[in-house]
Amino acid sequence: MRRKLFAVTLSLALCMGLLSGCMSDSSSSSSSSMHSSSTLMDDVESGMSRVESDVKSGMSDMMDGSSSTSHSSSDGSASGTAAAAAVPGEDWAARLVNAANPLPEDFSVKTVMIEGYENRPFDARAADALEAMLADAEAAGCKLYLVSAYRSVDRQRSLFARKTQSFVDEGFPRDEAEKQAAQWVARPGTSEHNLGLAADIVSANWYAGHDDLTADFDQTPEFEWLQAHCAEYGFILRYPQGKETVTGITYEPWHYRYVGKDAAAQIMGQGITLEEYNQKTR
Ligand SMILES: [Zn+2]
Repeated sequence: MRRKLFAVTLSLALCMGLLSGCMSDSSSSSSSSMHSSSTLMDDVESGMSRVESDVKSGMSDMMDGSSSTSHSSSDGSASGTAAAAAVPGEDWAARLVNAANPLPEDFSVKTVMIEGYENRPFDARAADALEAMLADAEAAGCKLYLVSAYRSVDRQRSLFARKTQSFVDEGFPRDEAEKQAAQWVARPGTSEHNLGLAADIVSANWYAGHDDLTADFDQTPEFEWLQAHCAEYGFILRYPQGKETVTGITYEPWHYRYVGKDAAAQIMGQGITLEEYNQKTR
């Protein structure tokens, strides 16, 4: 009798674990890797690897969405044109943006607001996929929070100019001031957020207890859900641990990039980066 009760309890526990991973504690996290607990500033560089995250309180995206329309609105007053519209399929989605492949000065993209947020613009072609991922995660008990999405090149330029000026004010010549600023803020066009296909996503619960985006987000059930399911929606973990020398960016468990379902399946399935995927398919 006791044994039978144990078996029932065990199977119930297993079942609950499978059905509601995000409601359990995170002690079962499969991510056991060590990582730094350094806090991150907006587009900070750290050592050789640039860190591109966003500060929770500073550098708000709220100033950034002037060219966007609400996703629920049918009024298409968004500015700009879709980049690479002539490219067939979803090739536009796999566009590589990094320090060596900056976006052009005049880059613009049609964005819409992600549902449920006042100011989180995202590429209009991929917004449905992002909204579906957020909704399905919540339905599975994994409530996610979208910290940051699209940020215009203009916005990036003003962030970079402000940082540069702070070094000029300290007495650096302008050339040197720009180099110093680039250690902290991504140069205009080199942040993936300028492309409109990158989203910083964390657990809503976890975020409530954190002032900054830190790598310990990867200890949450919500991170596990994202790892298991993001490719189904066309997203990849863009800056994985162990690939810092390839991406030039430190590990960011919160930064997800839309690349399209086919590319995402290959990249996540093979454990490679967008840089490596682009080299293979070129
Ligand atoms: Zn990011």
